[in-house]
Amino acid sequence: MSLEQITKTLYGRIEKQGYKGKIVSVEHVTELQEEIEEKHHRGLLSEEIYREVLTWVDFKIPEISPEAKSIIVIAVPQPQVRLTFNWNGNSLHCLIPPSYNHATDGQARKILEPYLKSKGYRLAEAKLPLKLLSVHSGLAEYGRNNISYVEGMGSFYRLAAFYSDLPCLEDNWRELATMQRCEKCTACLKTCPTGAISSDRFLLRAERCLTFHNEGQGEFPQWLDPSWHNCIVGCLYCQKICPVDKDFLNLIEEGPIFSHEETASILQGKPIKKIPKETITKLEELSLFEYVDILGRNLSVLFQK
Ligand code: SF4
Ligand code: SF4
Repeated sequence: MSLEQITKTLYGRIEKQGYKGKIVSVEHVTELQEEIEEKHHRGLLSEEIYREVLTWVDFKIPEISPEAKSIIVIAVPQPQVRLTFNWNGNSLHCLIPPSYNHATDGQARKILEPYLKSKGYRLAEAKLPLKLLSVHSGLAEYGRNNISYVEGMGSFYRLAAFYSDLPCLEDNWRELATMQRCEKCTACLKTCPTGAISSDRFLLRAERCLTFHNEGQGEFPQWLDPSWHNCIVGCLYCQKICPVDKDFLNLIEEGPIFSHEETASILQGKPIKKIPKETITKLEELSLFEYVDILGRNLSVLFQK
């Protein structure tokens, strides 16, 4: 089978699942790194955000035999998930925005790996700045809110990326692109309660974004009005108002219900050992376990609302 046929079949398998993907040359890893460094150098990425990026990004290309030649970036549709917390006779429904559930990373890998392996190629996880990569690959475009949008999915998806020794037949790398729709729209700018989206620069003031604060540890800053929180983690205001997302807003999956005891254990910030096992399982299945230390803080703010 020719390389052209293999690449075509790979794209076909991705599309068949309802996913979307693009392949770029591995040579662009250096450019991704330089772009992040440059933003930091120009003061467009605060020290806190820069440090956070470096905790999960790794620009070192893993050794795969014979050597990585391409990066495959995949978008997998993901809905919002509605959780129900019961406490003191009250039921609170709250949402997890799309993109939090890691399970789709494994699903994307399952589509790619067996096929590539059958053709003698290998795959390894790529811990890269995925949003930036997806826009450079042509898979997504940036919105004014700095969220990336994929045709047919809006912003309701999660990205995953993999290195492969599959040669990159067609390098899809391109300059960063923003949605044409944003030229005449300021809906997200007007709706964002924190002023994170500004008219004088394209890059989000990430240090003002609710997501940065409610995913992080510690007390919320003084300027942050607690009533602005609208999700157990993250924030949905600028996605919900975006016209590009209007067809995807009803994609809400019913998530688990947490009993009074379970909710109390989260609200009280109990140590992991004292949280009921079934609660831990629920959080793990939602990919929320990594936030276990901050869920009590976030949930109590939502209950007060
Ligand atoms: S709300 Fe309008 S300006 Fe903001 S990302 Fe969507 S289309 Fe662009
Ligand atoms: S996620 Fe929320 S806080 Fe962040 S830019 Fe969008 S609306 Fe503003």
